Amino acid sequence: HQPIHIVGGGLAGSEAAWQVAQAGVPVVLHEMRPTRPTDAHHTDSLAELVCSNSFRSDVVHANAVGLLHEEMRRAGSLILAAGDAHKVPAGSALAVDRDAFSAHVTETLSNHPLVTVERGEVADLPPEDWSSVIVATGPLTSPGLAEAIRDLTGEDSLAFFDAIAPIVHKDSIDMGQAWFQSRYDKGDGADYINCAMDRAQYEAFIDALLTGEKTRFKQWEADTPYFDGCMPIEVMAERGPETLRYGPMKPVGLTNPHDPERRPYAVVQLRQDNKLGTLYNMVGFQTKLTYGEQKRIFRMIPGLQDARFARLGGLHRNTFINSPKLLDGALRLKAQPRLRFAGQITGVEGYIESAAIGLLAGRFAAAESHGRTPAAPPPTTALGALLGHITGGADAETFQPMNVNFGLFPPFEGRVKKKERKAAHADRALSALGPWLAGDAPDDAAKAAE
Ligand code: FAD
Repeated sequence: HQPIHIVGGGLAGSEAAWQVAQAGVPVVLHEMRPTRPTDAHHTDSLAELVCSNSFRSDVVHANAVGLLHEEMRRAGSLILAAGDAHKVPAGSALAVDRDAFSAHVTETLSNHPLVTVERGEVADLPPEDWSSVIVATGPLTSPGLAEAIRDLTGEDSLAFFDAIAPIVHKDSIDMGQAWFQSRYDKGDGADYINCAMDRAQYEAFIDALLTGEKTRFKQWEADTPYFDGCMPIEVMAERGPETLRYGPMKPVGLTNPHDPERRPYAVVQLRQDNKLGTLYNMVGFQTKLTYGEQKRIFRMIPGLQDARFARLGGLHRNTFINSPKLLDGALRLKAQPRLRFAGQITGVEGYIESAAIGLLAGRFAAAESHGRTPAAPPPTTALGALLGHITGGADAETFQPMNVNFGLFPPFEGRVKKKERKAAHADRALSALGPWLAGDAPDDAAKAAE
């Protein structure tokens, strides 16, 4: 076997290397630290946790990330094995001793007979004679490689930071107050959900934006310029009380069917965010408000009083590609299929999600090296739902990084009571996962699970 080259020894690259090696294929893992540091890493360990030490909920039957943990355990994940071996008390969450965790990953990979760890930056596109490569360089991909990827994929296909607007679960929007309509009824009428405000509501909302608590930029983020279109909503509000009414909240071209006589004073629009139509993003609402303040202030919007957020808004340094446009279903770059992508650079968000995509990329690359066609995990599994989102389910136009959540899973065919849905998701996922892991006709397994 030709070795598979993995660039980046973070959460995704380490998991990918392990999966490749466990499949009997040699791997060279290229990690630039300590030769070249990043702004967030502090050690030269593989799989360093740059911030929190939590892998979030470990509850399999109530939480999508808990389910993802379990699926990864069953798939023989190194990241989960190291996490479980070094867990610290954290209620129902899986939190780890960060140093012991990274040391475990580093030693396991360094001692694996099929793994070679090479320290040094891959500062340009990987050499032509690397026939199978996994790029897992993360949110802080070094500038040389980032530029090379941008040259290959096109100017608009690589983002350097994410300006995220909150994403809301559709079934938590009160359609007794909100309504479907596109401005001037252009396009498909169901593209947008609208929430109208009267003058008093708008003024109270602007006031809350101005006084709400904001998160501060980290030192190294302070110079990040705002592009037009990415300006935080509270920064717009600071420019004057009417700015939002002439920007993302303009009330034109819309009629509220619940109150057709009265022209709305301002309108918040939400745009469909995934093919399933289960998630809607708040148009133009990128923000640096703290998470607690976002929930409080955005629930002031009529129709969103009970909103559940699939993710909250934010603004971070983050290098990621437009995966729905650029990657095929096996995480290969369509323009150059020898290059696979994994981890946060594919537009997933979080330690575990990054490792999960590393797990899949490693398995896909190893399968190919054995002359097999990689089989995608069933869409009803957390692994499959996450992969499906970044490689096609998400809208390429508005693509922003995403955590795993049940909104990414296909709905149930029959009726399932709301309070039983999370457990039903987990049962459905785990029964579909087994046959996929065993390599039995995964597509049939997916169909059978629906
Ligand atoms: P990384 O873990 O960053 O791994 C990428 C590796 O590639 C690094 O080791 C880097 O040194 C190396 N590398 C980069 N360029 C090159 C190159 N050209 N050649 C060779 N090596 C290279 N997620 C959470 O779940 N919880 C958090 O608390 C959290 N906090 C975060 C805080 C910050 C400041 C940032 C930036 C991100 C945070 N994330 C967090 C998001 C994300 O989950 C982590 O960044 C996660 O580590 C991503 O995994 P990864 O494998 O894709 O990238």
